[in-house]
Amino acid sequence: MQPVIIIGAGLSGLTTAYQLNKAGYKCLVLEARALPGGRIKTLDGPIEMGATWLGNQHEHLRRLLQEMKVELFEQFTDGKISYEVAHDQPVQVFDMPQGQAPSYRIKGGTSTIIQELINRLSGSEIMYNCLVDQINEEDFGVSVVLKDDRRFSSKYAVITTPPQLTEAKINFEPALSDSKRDIMKNTHTWMGESIKYAVRYKNPFWKEKGFSGMGFSQAGILQEVHDHCDYDEKIFVLKGFLNPNLRAFRKDDREKMVVGTLTKLFGEKATQFIGYHEHVWQHDHYTSIRNPTSVVPHQNNGHSNLRDSMYNGKLIFSGTESSPVYAGYMDGAVYSGFLSAKTIIEQEENYNT
Ligand SMILES: Cc1cc2nc3c(=O)[nH]c(=O)nc-3n(C[C@H](O)[C@H](O)[C@H](O)COP(=O)(O)OP(=O)(O)OC[C@H]3O[C@@H](n4cnc5c(N)ncnc54)[C@H](O)[C@@H]3O)c2cc1C
Repeated sequence: MQPVIIIGAGLSGLTTAYQLNKAGYKCLVLEARALPGGRIKTLDGPIEMGATWLGNQHEHLRRLLQEMKVELFEQFTDGKISYEVAHDQPVQVFDMPQGQAPSYRIKGGTSTIIQELINRLSGSEIMYNCLVDQINEEDFGVSVVLKDDRRFSSKYAVITTPPQLTEAKINFEPALSDSKRDIMKNTHTWMGESIKYAVRYKNPFWKEKGFSGMGFSQAGILQEVHDHCDYDEKIFVLKGFLNPNLRAFRKDDREKMVVGTLTKLFGEKATQFIGYHEHVWQHDHYTSIRNPTSVVPHQNNGHSNLRDSMYNGKLIFSGTESSPVYAGYMDGAVYSGFLSAKTIIEQEENYNT
């Protein structure tokens, strides 16, 4: 059999490839970006611009991490929390409430999962800078055409791109049903509108003052901040989310606003930063579309229609938004990878008996 085509080298696509490899199938992963990972984007440091945390409830992801011997550490939360209610009011400081469920980060950064999956692929290939433009049903299965007209074919293809992006950017022949298109168009791409920022310091001055590094604001700029020092305590970072409306500003302006708010939350030392990083996910063409239909967070995430395969079972729809469990999260991405691999393996077993 020709290698199974997988569209997207994010967590879902690579999990599918890994599972299929284990069952003896080869895969060809076509990825639009020059790098793997998709919404897992770890900068040197490690500093996360995408997925960061997982919890005890994320059992599929945890099982995969255990299998790959990837280690976790607990998110640092010891100390006071800062809260800015409004611009013109003093910052409130309070203690972390007791009994919070811990959240965990991945030693070495979230991209460790991606690298470990890639290290385990055998007889499979990942091709980068491959923007899929068209998918056609064929007698033998499916053909996939890139924007630059290169064409690949296989008995099966698995598509892991976020549904809203897929509906807007990929052509299907025969076309998707109206009901499927409608659901896809109205499916929230989890975190697709978010802006992540990270500010790096020479030392963790907030810890020295008894702060956890956790803070929240309702004043319109910075929504959340968390301690983001690495496991080895070699880099010192505060990281969080900005108000998505700030995407209309220039990076320099956002940087000034972030540092201004951090100074209000944690004191003057916040001005002595040594690096500023950010990622505006709404501007990322391989995650988000320009003017999405307005949807609420998690809208249609996990909808069964998103998993319905097409072309007689040869085109399989996957990716975290399609997952029946923890859709939108890394756990959902892993589970969708397990499901799509299982679907192909079962079809082949039925075919051969
Ligand atoms: C800012 C942010 C914070 C997050 N925080 C967390 C968190 O703390 N915990 C958590 O569990 N989850 C978090 N998530 C969600 C998590 O990142 C996703 O659930 C997961 O990475 C999705 O994996 P995926 O493979 O389904 O999709 P993606 O990672 O989106 O992968 C899809 C891939 O398809 C590629 N692609 C797109 N279009 C094409 C095309 N036409 N042709 C070929 N390739 C294409 C993309 O480049 C991408 O690599 C966060 C996400 C973001 C953006």
